[in-house]
Amino acid sequence: MTQYIFVTGGVLSSLGKGLASASLAALLQARGYKVRLRKFDPYLNVDPGTMSPYQHGEVYVTDDGAETDLDLGHYERFTGISCRRSDSVTTGQVYSSVIAKERHGDYLGATVQVIPHITDEIKQRIVADVEEDIDFLICEAGGTVGDIEGQPYLEAFRQFAIDVGRKNVLFIHLTLVPYIASAAELKTKPSQHSVKELLSLGIQPDILLCRCDRPIPASAKHKLALFCNIKPECVIEALDVETIYEVPLSYSLAGLDSEVTKYFGLESTKPVNLKIWQDIVTNCKYPKGEVRIAVVGKYVECKDAYKSLIEALTHACISYNYKLRIDWISADTLEISDGNRTVAVDDSILYEHLRDAQGVLVPGGYGERGTVGKIAAITYARENDIPFFGICLGMQLAVIEIARNLAGLQEANSSEFSPSTPHPVVGLLEEWEEQGEKQTRSQESDLGGTMRLGVQECKLSPGSLVHKIYNQDVIRERHRHRYEVNIAYKDKMEAVGLKITGISPDGKLPEMVELVGHPWFVAMQFHPEFKSQPMTPHPVFKAFIKAALERADVLKKGKVA
Ligand code: GLN
Repeated sequence: MTQYIFVTGGVLSSLGKGLASASLAALLQARGYKVRLRKFDPYLNVDPGTMSPYQHGEVYVTDDGAETDLDLGHYERFTGISCRRSDSVTTGQVYSSVIAKERHGDYLGATVQVIPHITDEIKQRIVADVEEDIDFLICEAGGTVGDIEGQPYLEAFRQFAIDVGRKNVLFIHLTLVPYIASAAELKTKPSQHSVKELLSLGIQPDILLCRCDRPIPASAKHKLALFCNIKPECVIEALDVETIYEVPLSYSLAGLDSEVTKYFGLESTKPVNLKIWQDIVTNCKYPKGEVRIAVVGKYVECKDAYKSLIEALTHACISYNYKLRIDWISADTLEISDGNRTVAVDDSILYEHLRDAQGVLVPGGYGERGTVGKIAAITYARENDIPFFGICLGMQLAVIEIARNLAGLQEANSSEFSPSTPHPVVGLLEEWEEQGEKQTRSQESDLGGTMRLGVQECKLSPGSLVHKIYNQDVIRERHRHRYEVNIAYKDKMEAVGLKITGISPDGKLPEMVELVGHPWFVAMQFHPEFKSQPMTPHPVFKAFIKAALERADVLKKGKVA
């Protein structure tokens, strides 16, 4: 029988509810249980697909093509479970579906209200599409207790606990216990207030998970237990740690998983095996050296926009026992405007920014701003034999760079940036297909849900670098884009060494390219970063970091010479 764990957050945002939920899931898995995780986001957007990266960070994409909150990335990375569309619930989805039912007459003349109609819809989504053999379903509520828009979720969770029996539901409340220097004390009052707020909504937390930057003294724990009506052993310290992959170990040490299993009467049935986490953390903490990767992007001030990318690079570095150092380069620092045109900065400036890079990575992105700078970085990496890794927009720009600078197509561009380009080496599939055969994507004017999303198959060319890297003929990777590299330019591109080494099964969509004669120049239309996990780093990221380590030898020799 499935047991339910609800994770709520108090005091302030950014305490790491997603990581806490993911870490608890990993600990329960380590005890041999089967888990699923879901996120309930209180915003009115249907999904974060239309939100700016500055607002929301990365949009994480699942195998089945849902655009979701980045916490689902933590869930997958910590558990290896492939999340599904149904694991990401938003108020936008809940209301859309209730309103559609109302229009359809499903409520039989009733006045449609938050309670019970919205809460019923939320309750249905708690259990929808959950396999019967799941031992624990962990549901994380986005936002902080006290937020107006979060209330229907908390009310639904409260009702749900009564519906399925209170003993089958555990409430974990994540709070902050701040250290106040002037008093030289850890303060419990914000947590007390937060629990009071939760109690006013009818929820008594069973476990208080307390974020803190130093150990909580027994007296403060006792106070928290007393004032929050929680057993002292269920006030659990969540100490700051050096790496996120240490969180499961740290929580286990503080007793989180043992209290959870004890609560459900499952204590000591299964031993906990944390060897994989111990190995990962040891590799993180005692690196042999550092790998410097330059990431040239548009949103570099907002690291959350590149969450999965940073993690995937980290996983690969951990596997070689190296520490990742990212040199974040804002693409617009590599371009200047001379009035009407934007042009690349001088080589000397590129050299300043990129000379120490052991690898250059151009990630995904949207819109024209910064594309000149990114192309300049690609030229630099290509001409100076620096390993280059292009992802999604990064692949499209690599194709444009090579079309312009090697294939002599000066005006080559993407129709995303120049709809009238004479050489649309990147464009919408529909732009090249004959009338009548058009697909719906470009005809839809809505921005939400009009992209090529989720897992797609890709055939790899035998003998290619990417075939060696994956050691498979057909791979399945996750996409999120509207534009494609134009297969009509295949011969022109291949003539100058840019081989299409990954292609969609129908042969129409180039998915991977690599540059012959360069030490490591690989780019792909999909996002491999979504499928990397610390215990199984993604092969493309591993290969890139390996090439970067080899580049370090070249740089060292250069210095000696
Ligand atoms: N803007 C490009 C497109 O829509 C690339 C998208 C991306 O990098 N994810 O195709």
